[in-house]
Order: sequence, then C-alpha cells, then structure tokens
Amino acid sequence: MPGTLARAPGLPPLTDDFSQPYWDAARQGTLLIQRCRTCRRYQFYPRAHCAHCFADDPEWTPASGRGRIHTWTVIRRTPNAEFAADCPYVLAIIELDEGPRMTARIVGESDGIACDRRVRAVFARAGETAVLPDFCLDRG
Ligand SMILES: [Zn+2]
Repeated sequence: MPGTLARAPGLPPLTDDFSQPYWDAARQGTLLIQRCRTCRRYQFYPRAHCAHCFADDPEWTPASGRGRIHTWTVIRRTPNAEFAADCPYVLAIIELDEGPRMTARIVGESDGIACDRRVRAVFARAGETAVLPDFCLDRG
C-alpha cells in the first residue's frame, strides 16, 4: 500500500477525570501508560487497578513511544462519516517496548508496513483541541 497516510482531525476522544492526564500528556507529545507501584509491570489501557496483581495503585509514567507492529489492517470503508475522508487508513496493534499493546493508526509513509516493523509515536490533532497518539514507521 504505497503512499502517505494522514489523519483528518475527525472526532475528539471522550475524556474524563480518570483519563485526563493521558490526554494532557498527549497534547505535550508524550505517551503515558500506567505502571503498577506494587509489581512494577506496565499496562495499557488505563485502569484503576493493576491488570497483573490487582493492586489498586497504578501510576502514570511516560512510555518510550517506541514499539513494533503486532498486527495491522487497512480500513477501506467506515460507517463513521467523521473518518470517511481518511479512508483508506491503517489501523494497527502496536506492542510498545514496555510490553503493553495499544490500538493506533499508522500514519506517514506507508510503504513497508509489516508485522514486526519498528514504529514510533507521533501526535495528531483530533477534534478542536485533543491530540491522539498515532505511530509511523521508525526508519532511524
Ligand atoms: Zn501489579
């Protein structure tokens, strides 16, 4: 799928008090994930408790923003009018270097997208003020 993938602003994410630190950090170009204060393991998506040991003390911590493509697909049609202009776009599951996996878009140069390719986080506007983490191929 050669070409350059871009994101239209689309819909803003739904935020709440619990996720607000994540969105605030994304606006500053930092990807936050959670780390358990008890067992020290990382997790994503954010939860009020640790997914590994169930301690109720996960804390936000900056992630490296680097990882690899676990799997990916091309979205060619969408029922959501807000994303129609972006089609086709690439949706992927990224395995962060810290371990957790997250769903995100691949943007930028699309030539060479494949499982296990290294990627790095980039940040794009979503809606009027929000910013979402996307990933691009890490060619460095
Ligand atoms: Zn834990």
